[in-house]
Amino acid sequence: MFYEGLKDKVVLITGSSSGIGAGTAELFAKHGSKLVLTGRNTANLEEVAKKCIALGVNKSDILTITADLAKEEDTVGLVEKTLARFSRLDILIANAGICPPGYLANTTMELYDEVMNVNLRSVFLLLKVAMPHLEATKGSVVVVSSDSGLRPFPSVVAYCVSKAGLDHLVRCCALDVARKGIRVNGVNPGAVWTDIYLKYNIIGPNPTPDDLEEESKVCHALGRSGTVEEIGKLICFLASSDSSFITGQTIAIDGGASLMGPVGCWE
Ligand code: NDP
Repeated sequence: MFYEGLKDKVVLITGSSSGIGAGTAELFAKHGSKLVLTGRNTANLEEVAKKCIALGVNKSDILTITADLAKEEDTVGLVEKTLARFSRLDILIANAGICPPGYLANTTMELYDEVMNVNLRSVFLLLKVAMPHLEATKGSVVVVSSDSGLRPFPSVVAYCVSKAGLDHLVRCCALDVARKGIRVNGVNPGAVWTDIYLKYNIIGPNPTPDDLEEESKVCHALGRSGTVEEIGKLICFLASSDSSFITGQTIAIDGGASLMGPVGCWE
């Protein structure tokens, strides 16, 4: 599994301290990319960096940045620090996200703002700051949205709205920057077992991978959840020159979940 045009490219991946972002970092490592790993958890970032080094990336070709995307200065700092270390940015993967549950009635405006800030506003800012540098490299962007951007789930209203916004941000930005030679695409994953289920109890308290699998049998047409590697491969493909004629697309990678009705899922 090797996509063209990823070797030696400088790849900034938000939310790479765990889950889909961490797994995607390992796939870029296998392609010989240079990596900027970021999240709030420094210890997790160091663990992911170690794994990428074990996969062949030079220590000097990995930069870890502890940053909170809820803070504008931290978000802008990601691009500044990447430029300071590598003098270029080729690929931006906007993957970080939070999913605190809430119906309309019990989602406070503070919670709504927090979700929108991390999941959508920070991506808008990151794209703005990164674009001049991506223009210089004719780079590409992949945004990690969600199946929840394509169809509603009543128990995570703010999250769904943020992800639907991300999908349209992908289309608007892709059109905006296409003539500069920059491509912007998105992925909409279905259920993939990661820490997000433990952090937010989305499918109930103290969930296990088996609980998600049971739920996925019902909610996904293929009758199973996805894997971090399956999502990461699509992200790598969309970032690579193998997808050079694709821009402005948001691609469901959800085992057919978006083909099915939401009734019975996450309620
Ligand atoms: P994880 O919780 O494992 O990863 C989320 C990542 O986002 C972590 O690295 C976390 O880093 C980072 N993050 C969260 N808040 C902030 C913040 N304020 N500042 C900086 N980084 C932050 O979950 P996943 O890997 O599952 O999620 C990755 C993306 O995939 C998300 O956007 C999610 O919405 C999306 N997704 C996931 C699905 C799934 O089933 N797992 C399904 C559909 C979409 P740290 O904790 O170190 O700050």
